[in-house]
Amino acid sequence: MPKNIKIAKNYETYSADGRIPLEKLYRAFLSLPEKDWDRKVIYTEIVKLSNGQKVDAPILSFSTKIKGPALWLISGIHGEEPAGPNALARSSAIRNYRIPVVLLPLCNPKGYRQNWRYLDKRRGESGKSVGDSEHLLLNSVNVTVNKPRRKLPNSLQAGALTKEVLRLSKTHPPLLTIDFHEDELVKGEHYMYSQGKDGFADPVVKEIVRIFQENDLKFMKDGKRWFGKNIKDGIIHGVHDGSIDELLSAEKIFLNGKITKKPAAKSVIVIETPIKNSPIEKRVKTMELVIKSLKDFWKIRSCN
Ligand SMILES: [Zn+2]
Repeated sequence: MPKNIKIAKNYETYSADGRIPLEKLYRAFLSLPEKDWDRKVIYTEIVKLSNGQKVDAPILSFSTKIKGPALWLISGIHGEEPAGPNALARSSAIRNYRIPVVLLPLCNPKGYRQNWRYLDKRRGESGKSVGDSEHLLLNSVNVTVNKPRRKLPNSLQAGALTKEVLRLSKTHPPLLTIDFHEDELVKGEHYMYSQGKDGFADPVVKEIVRIFQENDLKFMKDGKRWFGKNIKDGIIHGVHDGSIDELLSAEKIFLNGKITKKPAAKSVIVIETPIKNSPIEKRVKTMELVIKSLKDFWKIRSCN
């Protein structure tokens, strides 16, 4: 395990929305006690500062020394959605968990730094997502087609991240996964993707809906179409978007030239908070509602 992970003093992070600067995020995550957590550099991005200096911006993974079926927390896949990484950095709740946990807290640090959605592009332009897993995923329509959806990873970063997901799935098979996203298109309405086996009836998803409603947070209305799917009780189910979440929920993948079984998470949840007209502090607080209840979610999923 790398002892010395090089972090710059100042990454000159985009600051218009009040997000936590990148160096502060790194310091927060790297303060997870080393006696309890392993850490790994998945990939090293190089960032060029305004004075021409080049600094490392690593993509990191953290996993508890305790192994076994695990809680996975993912955030920062899209660089212009800062609430998840900020809430995870602010939370002390997960520091002392005595359950197996995998934390992928900032999957696209370069995008976060410059407020770009993708590895190579802003929002609105078609770019490469660091979470793209299509090189491992079977054809969603006809699973007997003997090839993955794409031949190679869409980028070195996506190749490295998905490889790390498979590596950690062996020691910490995902049981419950939560991926923190935000949505710039919707106004005032939350929604969630439920990609686990229980779909709309997922007990953890239902509990998150209940907690949000208790806190007067609105959900998208039933029957509304979003990304080609019907919303039901604020939930979308049945998407095949080639994301890291679909990978986590997949029972079979395409690996080394053949279809292989892998541990599939029971609950695979993607949370979307609306960015429009909502200050970052409010969005972070919403994410913190989820983080505060993780232990309860864990109990629900462990016995269901
Ligand atoms: Zn997103």
